[in-house]
Amino acid sequence: MADRFLAARTVLVTGSTSGIGLAIACGLASAGAKVAINGLGTPEQIEAAMQAVRDAGAAEVRHFGADLRDPDQIEAMMMAIEAWSPLDILVNNAGIQHAVPLAEMPTQKWNDILAINLSAAFHTMRVAMPGMAARGYGRVVNIASVHGLVASVNKAPYVASKFGIVGLSKVAALEYAASGSRDSGGITINCICPGWVETALIEPQIEARRNGGSREDGVRALVAEKQPSQRMSLPEDIASLTLWLCRREAHNVTGASFPIDGGWTAQ
Ligand code: NAD
Repeated sequence: MADRFLAARTVLVTGSTSGIGLAIACGLASAGAKVAINGLGTPEQIEAAMQAVRDAGAAEVRHFGADLRDPDQIEAMMMAIEAWSPLDILVNNAGIQHAVPLAEMPTQKWNDILAINLSAAFHTMRVAMPGMAARGYGRVVNIASVHGLVASVNKAPYVASKFGIVGLSKVAALEYAASGSRDSGGITINCICPGWVETALIEPQIEARRNGGSREDGVRALVAEKQPSQRMSLPEDIASLTLWLCRREAHNVTGASFPIDGGWTAQ
């Protein structure tokens, strides 16, 4: 029987209709949480994601369809979740990518990437954190990237957004460090910084490196560039650390950025 240590907790995972976010929503569900999922997709994709979270063991699941480019929709979502069940755990995971040289980056892509990958986290944290502090327990886990710690070419808005969320998380960690107690679990804010993870987000980058070969050839070429382990992570690997950060005994782990990158940022 799984450890249901989140049985009384409510969580929101943004961008949880696929990839890392869905794995995190399922991981938190397996510990018994009530789960708010968010993200785009067809009604069938959204229903499939909700069913996966239900099957993983969630106490309850609801989908909140806010488009994270729009602060008004984010605020309405946060109010609707608060009315449903006060939020204990916030995972800012939604993110998009567009890889072209800086001078060729469309302005609209810059605006969308900054809005979804960075500003949305400010808008959710701003609303969620005072309630967490009042109740003495709260967790914010921001899914940044190795690109919050080091840069790569052709990713100006992505790298800017990920460095930004690392900085935002440190400020929040300092502001809330003394809230709550060791017994209640405290309020912590951390980033996870994955290298390559097997999701739809990186398929265009795999495709660009196939050179007429198989998808496996594309994967090999991609990890060979930067990730010394030569293997990608699974979304469940990222979920596993997220789950641990939610435990009471992680009360003093705050303001940190954890690479899961096969040695990428050790170089
Ligand atoms: P994904 O494309 O599988 O999932 C992205 C999620 O964000 C989806 O649920 C999508 O619906 C949602 N989303 C996109 N635009 C949205 C919008 N406007 N409003 C609401 N939701 C929106 O990608 P993923 O790989 O699972 O990425 C999740 C996070 O992990 C991102 O922040 C990404 O930058 C980060 N990350 C991924 C990798 C990787 O290798 N896959 C590496 C490092 C960091």
